[in-house]
Amino acid sequence: MALMITEECINCDACLPECPNEAIFETRSQAEEKGHKVSEGQGEGDEIYVISYELCTECVGFHDQPKCVEVCPVDCCVPDPKHPETKEALLEKARKLHPDQELDESKCWEGVRG
Ligand code: SF4
Ligand code: SF4
Repeated sequence: MALMITEECINCDACLPECPNEAIFETRSQAEEKGHKVSEGQGEGDEIYVISYELCTECVGFHDQPKCVEVCPVDCCVPDPKHPETKEALLEKARKLHPDQELDESKCWEGVRG
């Protein structure tokens, strides 16, 4: 399940440089201009950061828990119920995003459903 950012975001930028997949953008428009899809309703009006569900893998293969969740000071990075994915699907996505990298499959957030 990809994560999404809620309206509580304070635009602090702590999450953006930590994402292994460059899935976080400063605004919805910025993500879309770069060709990445964002969940319906997330970041409308371009006032908060957003996560593209096409790129987010819950950090599987890299970290034991989502980095954005770990660093966010206001706990506004949450699972996006519109995009449920199994651990295997997330790992497959991560392999496609990082074809030249060895992923540690034991690194998987317990929040992953399925
Ligand atoms: Fe990026 Fe990981 Fe957060 Fe997804 S969970 S947006 S991959 S830091
Ligand atoms: Fe928004 Fe949290 Fe990211 Fe800061 S760390 S920009 S508050 S989502």
